[in-house]
Amino acid sequence: MLRHSLMNTFTIIFLIALVISSAIQHWLSMRQKSFVLDHRAAVPDAFKDTVGLPAHQKAADYTVEKGKLGDIDSILGIIFLLVLTLGGGISLAFKLWSSFGLSSLLTDLGAVATVFIIMTVLEIPTSLYQTFVIEEKYGFNKSTKAQFFKDQAISMGLLIVIGMPILALILWIMDSIGSLWWLAAWAVLMAISLLMSWLFPTVIAPLFNKFTPMEDGSLKDRIQGLLSRCGFNSDGIFIMDGSKRSGHGNAYFTGMGNNKRIVFYDTLVDSLEEEELEAVLAHELGHFKCKHTRKMLIASSIMTLISFAILGWLIDKDWFFSGLGVDSHSNAAALLLFMLVSPVFTLFMQPISAFFQRKFEFEADDFASNNAKASKLISGLVKLYEENANTLTPDPLYSAFHYSHPPAAIRIAHLESKMS
Ligand SMILES: [Zn+2]
Repeated sequence: MLRHSLMNTFTIIFLIALVISSAIQHWLSMRQKSFVLDHRAAVPDAFKDTVGLPAHQKAADYTVEKGKLGDIDSILGIIFLLVLTLGGGISLAFKLWSSFGLSSLLTDLGAVATVFIIMTVLEIPTSLYQTFVIEEKYGFNKSTKAQFFKDQAISMGLLIVIGMPILALILWIMDSIGSLWWLAAWAVLMAISLLMSWLFPTVIAPLFNKFTPMEDGSLKDRIQGLLSRCGFNSDGIFIMDGSKRSGHGNAYFTGMGNNKRIVFYDTLVDSLEEEELEAVLAHELGHFKCKHTRKMLIASSIMTLISFAILGWLIDKDWFFSGLGVDSHSNAAALLLFMLVSPVFTLFMQPISAFFQRKFEFEADDFASNNAKASKLISGLVKLYEENANTLTPDPLYSAFHYSHPPAAIRIAHLESKMS
């Protein structure tokens, strides 16, 4: 499939980066699976009194099985990336759409959308297997096939209704504004993403789930007490029907400005005591009070700006296109290539961002310890680890690289130090 003329230095750099990043990911995943299996026989000392051996072993098996599916998924991802780039897939998409004789914007839009839609469709078998084989086997799946395909259809609909106009706007900016297009495209994209996070709780999330205001009662009183103690205003406290899809429980805090919502999964409310729910919410409020949401937003907007600036530099370099097997030198092809290929070169960023996320988790835990009971956050977390079958014994390197939350034992030891 490789045409000789396309082989240039950048092809070799790309292939080396792909081999290195895939090898690192694969090695970490192997470490994680063997570490978890090596610690499967006994519950770690810190959890001896709170977690039973069957639950510990279930978490180990669940982690290993999800890991294996992840390995297959990433091999398929590499093959697909190679087919699209050096295999000529992107070139083919652009050639196909230009044969229809549409305007250049519609041609570009059609080609980019075709690649995204194929990528989305190719992910369906993996999520089907994840949901109806793995989640089913461990008792987490509550979804039906009808629900699953309805979710897929809504996601695809959102991709077309929201994603396509945004893509059209970015492509139009790239084609019309001149050499500083990347700055304008970045500003527009940031404005849209702020608008989306503002609209998410009231417009997008309700497409997938039902949100019911929390009923009056002791739990609501307790939560309102916590909110006023922390000087916090919110549009409301809602229960989400997470149980219609999965037994996994969670709580989150969403929206911005005057459109903020606190959301508890019904599964979480059913499994934790009121004081534990209060402590979990105090942790989520901690993220807000320590301005983590804002810091993450600023960091990601800086990263996006840097990416756009790099793309602005790459866009007129022939070697960028030919080195990645693309013979259509359009702005749209450059944008598509950049989105597909940049993760290969930015893997080293992942442990750095995971490090900051874990730092934020400790800070939010500190906030929770000051405004609710650390002991209740611990007991709530242990229940969550157990009910979600999260492993208590992750590989230290794997978790340093991938985990947005500190490993269970470290996190709980930190909370215990706050109790005295
Ligand atoms: Zn957190």
